[in-house]
Amino acid sequence: MAELSDRMRALVQPHLAGIEPYDPSFTPCRINLSANENTYPLPASVRASVDAALAATPLNRYPDPLSGELRCELAARHGLAPENVCVGNGGDELLFNFLLAFGGEGRRVLNCPPCFSEYEFFASLTRTGVRNVRRDRRTFELDERAMLAAAPHTNLAILTSPNNPTGNPVSASFVAQLCRACPGPVMVDEAYIEFADEGVSVERLLGSCPNLVILRTLSKAFGAAGIRCGYVLAAPDVIEVFAAIRQIYSVNVLTQAAALALVRARAELASAVAQVRAERARLLAALEADERLEVWPSQGNFLLVRMDEASRIRERLRDERSILVRDFSYASGLEGCLRITVGTPEENDELLAALTALLDEEG
Ligand code: PMP
Repeated sequence: MAELSDRMRALVQPHLAGIEPYDPSFTPCRINLSANENTYPLPASVRASVDAALAATPLNRYPDPLSGELRCELAARHGLAPENVCVGNGGDELLFNFLLAFGGEGRRVLNCPPCFSEYEFFASLTRTGVRNVRRDRRTFELDERAMLAAAPHTNLAILTSPNNPTGNPVSASFVAQLCRACPGPVMVDEAYIEFADEGVSVERLLGSCPNLVILRTLSKAFGAAGIRCGYVLAAPDVIEVFAAIRQIYSVNVLTQAAALALVRARAELASAVAQVRAERARLLAALEADERLEVWPSQGNFLLVRMDEASRIRERLRDERSILVRDFSYASGLEGCLRITVGTPEENDELLAALTALLDEEG
């Protein structure tokens, strides 16, 4: 990972001196199964409505700061009011703003690694302390008792459902307990929720948990990681905070137009999600059948797989087969683990064949 030069280390704010920027380890490859994107092409009719919306969007005017039309469409999608929704430049911007608003010096966020590493990165940028309650080493389930014990001594909490990179969902009854135990807001990051079983979302708790914040994104199931659009759902006074601290024009006119067309066309995107779920089951079964691998069930569009020589296998997949997957073997608790995004049937076949061949060779 890149580090700052000595000159810059001396010039930046002291708490930024040791920062190591997020590195998505991206190398252009024929098959990219490394970033949990949706690799299925958008249906032609949906792409046509997005293109028409973009073509009809004037570029000379500033965007609507609160993405009014999109906000109303998203609220309708969730059976909520527009006051329950704040749109952002990807989920990442909203995660950062969550820590900026509710974290900060002298405060602590409850975090449950192994999980999305951006949480700790944004905590360090905003000088927020981190209270880690680690997941079970074998199953990656949350340590619910330890979390409930820690929560009263923290100021905000983030948990991911389904969790990236382990795939575990979080139960709604536990989220409700955590919301009662935590004095500040509790964010449930549902970036991958559309790939999970029916009823896994904790949306239904919004009415009874006034400190619950749910994060969603168009980067995964909606197949639109490139447009950078995410949103939070929460009580109106929580949303007012997100609205107040955001960079006014962070969601540009083209993103608002494309996102609106995509959200309106959501019914047409359901079949790709169903295919990902079916392919996930097929990939899981194939990987489980190989005794050299350990693989965990997942509710997301990815699978975590442990093997010997994981980093080497990942490099060989990249360099010899032009297939990119994500290496997590450097992360505590994820030794020997690669994360594989579920792709199209053809991509998954190629991945399985290449992985098997490389494991045979390494054998
Ligand atoms: N949360 C989780 C758990 C993620 O994995 C990601 C993307 N990798 C995000 C949030 C942010 O997604 P985006 O900024 O593309 O909306």
